[in-house]
Amino acid sequence: MKPDLFEAPDYYNLDDLLTEEHKLVRDAARSWVKREVSPIIEEYAQRAEFPNQIIKGLAEIGAFGPYIPETYGGAGLDQISYGLIMQEIERGDSGVRSTASVQSSLVMYPIWKYGSEEQKKKFLPKLASGEFMGCFGLTEPDHGSNPGGMTTNFKANGDHYILNGAKMWISNAPFADVAVVWAKNEEGRVHGLLVERGMEGFSTPETHNKWSLRASATGELIFDNVKIPKENILPGKSGLGAPLSCLDSARFGIAWGAIGAAMDCYDTALRYAKERIQFDKPIAATQLQQKKLAEMLTEITKAQLMAWRLGVLREEGKATSAQISMAKRNNVDMAIKIAREARQVLGGMGITGEYSIMRHMMNLESVITYEGTHDIHLLITGYDITGHAAFK
Ligand SMILES: Cc1cc2nc3c(=O)[nH]c(=O)nc-3n(C[C@H](O)[C@H](O)[C@H](O)COP(=O)(O)OP(=O)(O)OC[C@H]3O[C@@H](n4cnc5c(N)ncnc54)[C@H](O)[C@@H]3O)c2cc1C
Repeated sequence: MKPDLFEAPDYYNLDDLLTEEHKLVRDAARSWVKREVSPIIEEYAQRAEFPNQIIKGLAEIGAFGPYIPETYGGAGLDQISYGLIMQEIERGDSGVRSTASVQSSLVMYPIWKYGSEEQKKKFLPKLASGEFMGCFGLTEPDHGSNPGGMTTNFKANGDHYILNGAKMWISNAPFADVAVVWAKNEEGRVHGLLVERGMEGFSTPETHNKWSLRASATGELIFDNVKIPKENILPGKSGLGAPLSCLDSARFGIAWGAIGAAMDCYDTALRYAKERIQFDKPIAATQLQQKKLAEMLTEITKAQLMAWRLGVLREEGKATSAQISMAKRNNVDMAIKIAREARQVLGGMGITGEYSIMRHMMNLESVITYEGTHDIHLLITGYDITGHAAFK
């Protein structure tokens, strides 16, 4: 793979809106990605393997629980810092960002928000340091966009619960030490359970043959009469709103992360267009390639503004789920379109692993589907503005 010469576009001087701390956090993540992710990621994606050796570094740049308080081992940062870290990691690879998003927003967040003090003390510091890795089980083979239809269930039995069912498409599942699993009790109410590796009847087979997020491990969670101690239920919240609030946090991170992938594609295409000579001049001097590059930068700039404003709203506790949906949908769509255009700027070279663009493009096919599909997010906006839920 080519050396990582990335220079971030900032056409509207958005750095002026950031604090010194934001810039320090962002720059630390950026240099770490250049040093530790860019040189190895193509090889791991080709081999369809998660690079375990980067876990410690992810923890060190604050990617595991950026906004979790320091008392629980988190980095104690604000929402914009969280977004910036996700942006920088996804600039390297969406699969690596997925691992960090799941750990932070889908595992640490529910334990922090809805867990008991004992659960927080037991799990959060180890998840923050990367000593424990976690996964989040909501999707099932027959229930994706409609998680409320889930059939995974648990029954009380003395001092424990008995859990049965299966989850599918679970990021980090193959190596997770703990799974936050959403299941229905005997009354049909959704609860979060902490299922630990080694519990009898719990297995996590890996999902193979993915053309997307190849450097992220995906798997199933199978529960065959798993005995879960009663202290492993999340006591703070029940109902579908609990997992959905975790998704809000993760989708916020994706809205930022997708900008990273788009910036990398744009930056690569711009550099290539200036260097590539055809018909005795750089292709950057042709109107058609300038149209592509100018439109890419315009869309990136719009997405940056949206993410920044959403970060401010989220920090103030004012961001609605529908606002987060709009940003996730817009920014991922923006990124995938830019990846496709940037790929064309590189001609044949664009399809090779010498450059990151094709990997970003394939990764984004998952990002546009997971955490709520492109269609479902549009329907959430439709519901928000009309009061009619078209997806039900
Ligand atoms: C690589 C990867 C990693 C993932 N990681 C996780 C994870 O860690 N944890 C987890 O719980 N899940 C995870 N997922 C699952 C992901 O969230 C689901 O794939 C997603 O929610 C969509 O569900 P589905 O695949 O079952 O598609 P479906 O829900 O079957 O949708 C199929 C199509 O129908 C459309 N559709 C569905 N309902 C409607 C409607 N009412 N109106 C109009 N169109 C509709 C959808 O938009 C989509 O285009 C992951 C998925 C992938 C691919």
